[in-house]
Amino acid sequence: MARGILDIDLDAIVANWRALGRLSGSARAGAVVKANAYGLGVAPVARALAKAGARLFFVVSAEEGAELRSCLGPEIEIMLLSGHMSGDTDLISGADLIPLLSSPGQVARHRGALPGRRYGIQLDTGMNRLGIGPGDWQGLAPVIAAEHPALVMSHLACADDAENPGNAAQLSCFRKMTGEISAERSLAATGGILLGPDYHFDVTRPGIGIYGCRPFAEGRPVVRLTLPVIQIRHVPPGQAVGYGGTWVAGVPSRIALVAAGYADGLLRALTGRGSVMINGQRCPMVGRVSMDSLAVDITNLGEDPEMICMIGDEQPVDAVADMAGTIGYEILTSFGARYEKTYREAGE
Ligand SMILES: *Cc1c(COP(=O)(O)O)cnc(C)c1O
Repeated sequence: MARGILDIDLDAIVANWRALGRLSGSARAGAVVKANAYGLGVAPVARALAKAGARLFFVVSAEEGAELRSCLGPEIEIMLLSGHMSGDTDLISGADLIPLLSSPGQVARHRGALPGRRYGIQLDTGMNRLGIGPGDWQGLAPVIAAEHPALVMSHLACADDAENPGNAAQLSCFRKMTGEISAERSLAATGGILLGPDYHFDVTRPGIGIYGCRPFAEGRPVVRLTLPVIQIRHVPPGQAVGYGGTWVAGVPSRIALVAAGYADGLLRALTGRGSVMINGQRCPMVGRVSMDSLAVDITNLGEDPEMICMIGDEQPVDAVADMAGTIGYEILTSFGARYEKTYREAGE
C-alpha cells in the first residue's frame, strides 16, 4: 500500500535552532531532541544540528542518550532530563551521559554508583514536576556547590504565556536557589527564550521552536505530511460515512478515502473538525477518523486527487493541533511508524 510521506526540512530545523540561539543572546543554546526528536527522527535531526554547531543535547532517558551518543560520537555533551534512574548506571557510564539529578535520592544514587562522574541538578521552582525543591535544596546546596555540577537548571510551567505571573515567581525562586553556586545555569526552553534576557542565564534548552511550532511564531515550518488517496466513492444523499454513521451526505457527494488514521497520529479528536488541503483548496474531513483511514469530502473539488496535504505551508502543525484541540508537541510526537520519512537538506 502507498504510504504517507513525512517530509522533514533539516535546513529549516537548523535555521530555527540558529534563530533561537541568536535570541538566547550570550547564553549557549543546547538542543532538545527527546522523544526521537519530537517524532521527526533523532539521528538525522541531531546530526544536522551537530553539523551546524550544536554541542549540547538534551534527551530524557539513558536509552535515548546512548542512541544519541552512537549517532554523534564523542565530544558532544548529552544531558538526561530523567536524571539517574535505577538501572541506568551502565548506560550513563558507558555512553558518557550527564544525568540531571532531580531528587535527593537520585543524588545519593549517582554519588554511590559513579562517584566523581559529572552530573547536573534539576531544581523545582514552582512547577511541581521534576526537581529538588527549596526545602531539600537548603541542605544539599553547599555539598553540591563544592562538586561543581555541569549544570543547574529548572523548568518554567507557563513560559508560553508571557503575561503569566508564574514566570517572574519562578525566575525569582531560581535566582534565590542558585545565587551561591558557580555552575552554569539554565531556566529557559523555547517559551523562556522568548521571555527575554532575564530568563536566559548561561544555557538555553529549545525544543519545540526548533521543530517549527508555537510559541516560536517566527520559526520556519519543518514538516510536510502528504497522504495517498486509496479510493474515491460516490455517496448518495441520506447515506452515512464511517463508524457510527456520524456524517450523512446531504447532496450527492464524492468522498476520498485517505490512507492514514489515528494509528498514524491523526488523532480521533479531529473527527468532525478537521480539514485537509488539496491543491490549495480546503476540504473538510467527514465521519469518524478510523485507525487506518479517514474520509474527506471532495464534492466541491474539480478533480480526483491522488494525494492530499494534511500538514504543509497552508496548514501547519499548529493548525492541525488547533483542530484536534491539542498542541503541536502532541501532533508531532504522535506520528506513527508507518510514514515514509524523507529528509531535505541543502545540496542533497
Ligand atoms: C521538553 C523540555 C524542554 C524543551 O521544551 P520546549 O518547550 O519544547 O522548547 C526543555 N527543558 C525540559 C526540562 C523539558 O522537559
